[in-house]
Amino acid sequence: MVDADRRGVSADRGQSSYAQGEGAPPLLEQTIGANLAATTVRHPEREALVDCAVGLRWNYTELRTAVRRLAAGLLRTGVRTGDRVGIWAPNRWEWVIVQFATAEIGAVLVNINPAYRAFELEYALEKSGITAVFAAESFKDSDYRAMLDEVAPRCPVLTDVVYLGSDRWAELADRPLDAADEAAVNAAAARLDRNDPINIQYTSGTTGRPKGATLTHRNILNNGFMVGELIDYTEHDRICIPVPFYHCFGMVMGNLAATSRGAAMVIPAPGFDPRATLRAVQDERCTSLYGVPTMFIAELGLADFDTFDLSSLRTGIMAGSTCPAEVMRKVIDRMNMKDVSICYGMTETSPVSTQTRTADTLEQRVGTVGRAGPHVEVKVVDPADGSTLPRGEAGEFCSRGYIVMRGYWEDQAKTSEAIDAEGWMHTGDLAVMDDDGYLSITGRIKDMVIRGGENIYPREIEEFLYTHPDIVDAQVIGVPDEKFGEELMVWIKLRDGADALTADGLREYCRGRLAHFKIPRYVHIVDEFPMTVTGKIRKVQMRTESLELIGKK
Ligand code: AMP
Repeated sequence: MVDADRRGVSADRGQSSYAQGEGAPPLLEQTIGANLAATTVRHPEREALVDCAVGLRWNYTELRTAVRRLAAGLLRTGVRTGDRVGIWAPNRWEWVIVQFATAEIGAVLVNINPAYRAFELEYALEKSGITAVFAAESFKDSDYRAMLDEVAPRCPVLTDVVYLGSDRWAELADRPLDAADEAAVNAAAARLDRNDPINIQYTSGTTGRPKGATLTHRNILNNGFMVGELIDYTEHDRICIPVPFYHCFGMVMGNLAATSRGAAMVIPAPGFDPRATLRAVQDERCTSLYGVPTMFIAELGLADFDTFDLSSLRTGIMAGSTCPAEVMRKVIDRMNMKDVSICYGMTETSPVSTQTRTADTLEQRVGTVGRAGPHVEVKVVDPADGSTLPRGEAGEFCSRGYIVMRGYWEDQAKTSEAIDAEGWMHTGDLAVMDDDGYLSITGRIKDMVIRGGENIYPREIEEFLYTHPDIVDAQVIGVPDEKFGEELMVWIKLRDGADALTADGLREYCRGRLAHFKIPRYVHIVDEFPMTVTGKIRKVQMRTESLELIGKK
């Protein structure tokens, strides 16, 4: 293994925390449109897209036809390569068509979080200069039309709002291509460069103001392809995608992993619904299932879990936040996902940097986030001086390679803070690399709690608490304390019917098993955690609410 960055590591400190992934298979050096065209030639009849909620079922020929029709419709309305086109909708088949139609002609798709409210919508529209937006009419308690009516008059560059399923949609998406349309789409596609930006995603905002991570064809096509490579995807796979399309987990690790190999994308429901997800796996004979840990926890916790036939499952991906070893074990044993993989990454890195391999030991597969993906370099550095740390020491996780975004949309200052002069993305996550190059995420730099001078990584305590039979989920934060600077607080979700666990009982359970300073001072029992739409727990909100709970506000 070559260490490209040994500066700062003295020879006697052992192997440094630097590693790189495999050099194979080669990266795909083509646009997303060219890749979809090639897949359609290879697998014209294979099922490409299933939307369970509406009973839509298309093979690759049908999918590509729909994509080209909408691409032509966009060109007819004046959308050009490089223009920003927004999408604001939950998971439904049109989302996929908009994704590939914009890519076909090089319009930059801007994913707008379906949970956004008017002021956040306005920020995304304005900041990225969206000229046309595709939107659902409404979803759950979000009235998208009312919010767009309110905001659109204040966004002068926005000239077209297309509601999915409307006449306007039909006008753009349903017209069969004539010769002029064919020529126009082909000409637009021929001018594209795989290094062009193709997608802007506002990062989910567990911290700070959303930033528009700008990704190219090469970034996301290859990430989808490589993620699929490591779990042995072929055209025979059927991927159940309950994670949102608005995030890379859905549109890259789901959609592009599928289309780059001719596998099927199965949409179980517009929003996450554990029962609909298991039903889709069963009815569609899915081979792969995705989710953030809380989704798998919800599925495993269904009272009628055992009635679903999950025997078609082979693999899947758990990612997005800390994947507790206990949950991974259950997914392997009870959901038949023997080849399940953990991925770690972030929107800014397309998203996946590290992944577990199907041949890894059980310990590596349930206890780490794997090692660097193909063509990716990773290192762990001392946040204080940027030097690469020895293996086994915790520091900031950095990654480099084809995965690193172009930058934050029109925000050079924030881009330079995140990506250094040598192209390393600084993730803000804390990690430890072991002797084999496997990484464990120990927390976020901002998550770390410092109690009386002791650095405490909430992750470690959460992992421990998952071993308690009455606890289904535990989230640890730091709250202000006069004596220690910070004190630990844990929010706990109990198993149904396990309401006998008290704060004292919990501390008793920890005593002798955890160092005294890691035993949470405050215990708060909840039914639900505050969540982002991608299923990440909003620790920022937990901290604010906790101030009130402990009487510090
Ligand atoms: P996002 O950009 O919304 O995908 O969020 C990225 C962040 O999610 C990362 O910086 C990590 O903090 C967290 N994350 C993603 N995957 C994992 C994982 N497998 N284990 C722990 N944290 C993760």
